[in-house]
Amino acid sequence: MSRIDFKNICKRYAPGLPWTINNANLTIGRGEFCVFVGPSGCGKSTLLRMVAGLESITEGELLIGDKPMNKLPPAKRGVAMVFQSYALYPHMTVEQNMAFGLQVMGSDKAEIERKVKKAADILQLTPLLDRLPKQLSGGQRQRVAIGRAIVKEPDVFLFDEPLSNLDAALRVQTRLEIAKLHHDIGKASMIYVTHDQVEAMTLADKIVLLRAGQGVQDQGSVAQFGSPMDLYHRPQNLFVAEFIGSPKMNVMPGKLVRAEESHAVVEVHGEQITAAVDARGTAAGAPVSLGIRPEHLLHGDVGEGCQLHVKLRQMERLGDESLLYLDIAPESPLVTLRVEGHATQSPGAPITLRLMPEQCHLFDGAGKAFRRTVELPA
Ligand code: ADP
Ligand code: MG
Repeated sequence: MSRIDFKNICKRYAPGLPWTINNANLTIGRGEFCVFVGPSGCGKSTLLRMVAGLESITEGELLIGDKPMNKLPPAKRGVAMVFQSYALYPHMTVEQNMAFGLQVMGSDKAEIERKVKKAADILQLTPLLDRLPKQLSGGQRQRVAIGRAIVKEPDVFLFDEPLSNLDAALRVQTRLEIAKLHHDIGKASMIYVTHDQVEAMTLADKIVLLRAGQGVQDQGSVAQFGSPMDLYHRPQNLFVAEFIGSPKMNVMPGKLVRAEESHAVVEVHGEQITAAVDARGTAAGAPVSLGIRPEHLLHGDVGEGCQLHVKLRQMERLGDESLLYLDIAPESPLVTLRVEGHATQSPGAPITLRLMPEQCHLFDGAGKAFRRTVELPA
């Protein structure tokens, strides 16, 4: 039940190597579920292992419950970690695997039994306590690994891609179990690493989206820190805009025509689009990027919104919805439109898109988002 503070945390693995983590400043509240997400190699595991005490902190300060952690060994931090590879002892039963850590710590027998029983209850492992790991499915093994963390009753749970070895159906089921576990345990804080933005969106109270910092000295490793809906509705830069959401946000190059207090007008492929952003201070003619999500584009030439005229290139039918891939201009990236039901157009068909100003995002030449002028859901 501890707050975790990262103060200017930096990491490099050796002098002369690039910074793996550059200036991470974060506060994870008591009992919060925080997800570190980002592309492979961006430093998620490194940041998590610094919390666990498995990696040294090169610069900056880490506090758990206001106590400095930098020099404290892992066993004294009140944390428990669950890895992607379950790392169970093959010759021990489920019960022995869960009890082992407590035995090493010298807990008494009755207490170990009580804690193992409680963890087995929470994880529905009670009927499996006498089995060996090889007699369990992948999902059950991962639950035993989580059980080993639960019996330690830590203040902070650390998960490093715990679902990566499971198949798609089991991932969803285990994801729901982890969300329930957080709810049931209540007071413990959790930090959860994944490269999967859907896992991040569904599990997190707060998301830390990391980007590789190598060679980028002037920007920190944290691309954005906030609630899932914050990152979805108010991405602060192009990297966040394109990482969160599936299919990803459409981004179209354009030029600023004029900027007013409540909105800006942008030229995109010869058509004028209004975005509800404040771009004042940027010169007319400056290059900008217009962003809009596939689910926010409207379809058809009747109704509100600025129009864009495109041609259908290709289509994917998913049953409940279809994804239409559209040519806006030769050499330009395809624009994705998401529509309900079965689309019936043929390739080459002309399509009119409509863009509502409040659904448009606008980014400057460096990829930084202009401030939105219309409030969106929290
Ligand atoms: P992620 O978990 O986001 O995939 P990691 O934290 O594992 O990323 O790695 C981040 C970067 O740090 C990578 O470029 C990786 O090669 C590098 N790295 C990780 N561990 C070490 C190490 N022990 N020594 C040197 N470089 C490392
Ligand atoms: Mg990793």
